[in-house]
Amino acid sequence: MSTRAQQYAADVVAREQVTPHLVRLVLDVPGFVSTGIPDEWVGLVVPGQFQSRYYTVRSIVPSTGSGQGARLVLDVVVHEVGLVTEWALGDPVGQQVTITEPKGSFLPPVDAGWLLLVGDLTALPAMARIAVEHGGALPTRIVAEVPTDSRVEDYFTDGVEVTWLPTDGESRLAEVVESLDFPEGPGYFWMAGESAQMRAIRKHLMRERKLPSTHYDVMGYWRSVAQRQPRAVDPGPIWRAGKAAGKSDEEIWADYDAAQEATR
Ligand SMILES: Cc1cc2nc3c(=O)[nH]c(=O)nc-3n(C[C@H](O)[C@H](O)[C@H](O)COP(=O)(O)OP(=O)(O)OC[C@H]3O[C@@H](n4cnc5c(N)ncnc54)[C@H](O)[C@@H]3O)c2cc1C
Repeated sequence: MSTRAQQYAADVVAREQVTPHLVRLVLDVPGFVSTGIPDEWVGLVVPGQFQSRYYTVRSIVPSTGSGQGARLVLDVVVHEVGLVTEWALGDPVGQQVTITEPKGSFLPPVDAGWLLLVGDLTALPAMARIAVEHGGALPTRIVAEVPTDSRVEDYFTDGVEVTWLPTDGESRLAEVVESLDFPEGPGYFWMAGESAQMRAIRKHLMRERKLPSTHYDVMGYWRSVAQRQPRAVDPGPIWRAGKAAGKSDEEIWADYDAAQEATR
């Protein structure tokens, strides 16, 4: 028996620049079978490449052509440089790509009385599809952190509460979630975005909010490798200056912390 994951050949039939940072692609995928899970994602392999990148199936309709299959809509974030980014910024219509077997992770517990969805630009497609498929059944709040020029007012279905947070490029979602008021009673918290932010959120949900792991799903969708490392600060001169000024050890270490903070 083959253990190879199912793959599909897909035709790119349309491309739309939704915002400067978001490109919508429509793919016809013969034979595609959805998981039915609203945050389902596929691996996308673009022509001339063998590595895949993951994209959420924002919406899906059965193909209009002959035979079985589906028409998938993917919303691709285009950022400074990237394998799929550069391809999507070109003219992909008419090209054939490979799609890997879909997978999904959204699984609210049966006692969930509300949904809270938080994410950055890469999470918009999943939050939109979750809102369409579950927003009618459960009170749903969405918090979306996007650059101001990528706010799409009608991106989400009516009837869900949406808060748009502007960003200058650096995500502050960890801070945002720490200060959010969660609704009363059991619910389901779903979140996706930059990996370091997601690690911080998981700790917060476990340690401070004490949410059971069945009641949240937090996924790192991409990794920022551009974070600046703080410059090393030499403690020697700070120590000598502190001693000369008659400061206590605590005061000197506080000066050292402040000097390090100033380099970030
Ligand atoms: C389950 C899942 C679902 C996802 N769904 C979507 C989706 O629907 N839409 C979507 O756009 N993305 C989605 N992503 C994220 C996407 O897979 C990554 O952002 C991917 O790295 C983009 O590939 P690329 O070829 O453009 O850049 P890469 O070649 O992978 O990376 C090149 C450089 O760009 C940086 N980079 C990567 N992504 C970003 C970003 N978003 N913003 C700024 N810098 C970045 C990297 O750190 C790297 O330095 C999803 C990820 C997962 C795991």
